Amino acid sequence: MLLYNGQPIQAIVLDIEGTTTDIAFVKTVLFPYAEERLEAFMTALAPTREGHAILAMVRTEVGNPTLPLEECIAQLLAWAKADQKVTPLKAVQGMIWDEGYRSKAYYSHIYEDAAAYLWDWHRQGMPLYVYSSGSIAAQKLLFTHTLVGDLTPCFQGYFDTTTGAKVNTASYTKIAGAVGRPAAELLFLSDHPGELAAACQAGWQVCAVQRPGTPDFPPELPVVSTLGNYP
Ligand SMILES: [Mg+2]
Repeated sequence: MLLYNGQPIQAIVLDIEGTTTDIAFVKTVLFPYAEERLEAFMTALAPTREGHAILAMVRTEVGNPTLPLEECIAQLLAWAKADQKVTPLKAVQGMIWDEGYRSKAYYSHIYEDAAAYLWDWHRQGMPLYVYSSGSIAAQKLLFTHTLVGDLTPCFQGYFDTTTGAKVNTASYTKIAGAVGRPAAELLFLSDHPGELAAACQAGWQVCAVQRPGTPDFPPELPVVSTLGNYP
């Protein structure tokens, strides 16, 4: 049994970027890969059913039902450059990343200790969940194609911003409900002080994860530099 602050932990929810995975993988590998291919990919996809659906979402988002294809693509690129989490952009990025993973253009980065603890906790029967701002589809791709193999068997479920923003207390209350455990039995691991504060407000146990390059945390937060090494 995992004890944290003297409290038995019945499930662990993890952030991805800066917690299980180097932020640089997303910023310097995934995002540029999708951006470079977006125009050609979307042009090829446009006549298909999936293409129609994405273009319809772009047109709805900008409020112009007759926006021409080239301008839809330009809009998607503008959102990509501004790192805006718009649904049609997320959908296209997910499709391009899927192709990248399948063609082995890259593997996702996982910190060594993260992979080890995920497997250990899973073997011990600890329910594990992901809560990340990347779409659930992108989260699953990331954990399927890691440097150390497929980690998806470790996870019971995935949450993204369709549940709510990661800095909102209500999101953690919703997740506790979905997981089916009292908040006090849940441990949230993240590198983001605002997310940890929101989870704490919702009654969760929280612990900050310090990785190379993570800014210093407020002194009141418990901090670990590997996932399982609790103070
Ligand atoms: Mg993070």
